[in-house]
Amino acid sequence: MLSYRHAFHAGNHADVLKHFVTIQLLKYLGQKDAPYMYIDTHAGAGMYALDSGEATKNAEFDTGITRLWGRKDLPAPLAEYVDLIRAMNPSGKLRFYPGSPYCAEKVMREQDRLRLFELHPRDVKMLAENFRKLEAHEAAQGRPAAARGKRVMISHADGFAGLKSLLPPPSRRGLVLIDPPYEVKDDYRRVKQTLEDALGRFATGIYAVWYPALQRMESRQMPEKLKRIPANGWLNVTLSISAPVPDGFGLASSGMFILNPPWTLEPMLREVMPWLVKALGSDAGASFVLESGQTLPVNTGTRRTG
Ligand code: SAM
Repeated sequence: MLSYRHAFHAGNHADVLKHFVTIQLLKYLGQKDAPYMYIDTHAGAGMYALDSGEATKNAEFDTGITRLWGRKDLPAPLAEYVDLIRAMNPSGKLRFYPGSPYCAEKVMREQDRLRLFELHPRDVKMLAENFRKLEAHEAAQGRPAAARGKRVMISHADGFAGLKSLLPPPSRRGLVLIDPPYEVKDDYRRVKQTLEDALGRFATGIYAVWYPALQRMESRQMPEKLKRIPANGWLNVTLSISAPVPDGFGLASSGMFILNPPWTLEPMLREVMPWLVKALGSDAGASFVLESGQTLPVNTGTRRTG
């Protein structure tokens, strides 16, 4: 089923959380000269117009990026994210919003590699087109073609299955973002299965999973299930912009679950999340959760379900 189109949701509060955290994870990897690989298993179209088409339908960006756009007092990690978006809107008016691949491309260096999967025929076409335009723009700015070469690869394929073939990356350094639509329950199961398989191939990679915090059981159980995956620690951060809404009436809350998180992530989020809740919160139910830990012991004698 491929009815999901990210354009309807571009720039909403969930995108803010996901994209600002992803940028921080990539910046962490970029602290060392050694190259790294960024793999986006569900890449979307890469860039979205906010002033026309699908995005205008519910104007979800008004729950997210719009609220940060005019702020002069952004904490540094949010300023890095908003500055990236300001650079793609040189007129000063918020017209374009980046998808995760574009955010990554802007942060990554010439030696790093982007591998993008997208299954929707229209979105993968738009993704390729958006990257073609980006390359043409960069060529015009004098960036050497050889450096761009094989830097970006886009696959019209299932990202859950495709991930296997890329792990471990040659540089043994990397971030995998898993951001499925969760329109089908099977996505929850496949996220967990894909992570278990991926950690078997590339145990030291950083893995970031976005998930909707909905009332439905699969969603509520998701972080608890991911905490049991053997890894070198986990971090779970959620952002709620209001009190819970019944399923089917929009999304008030979402999370990023990170396996093998860099040690810098938690202190940074402790600083930024209270600010973000105030900036995006729409009622007294606005809140965040930030928790971390080591993987729960497995094989304890009692068999866990799920
Ligand atoms: N990561 C993007 C971003 O932050 O800008 C948004 C991705 S959107 C939430 C999920 C995307 O996954 C949709 O564009 C959808 O077409 C695509 N998709 C759904 N199932 C897929 C699969 N099995 N493999 C790859 N892409 C898939």
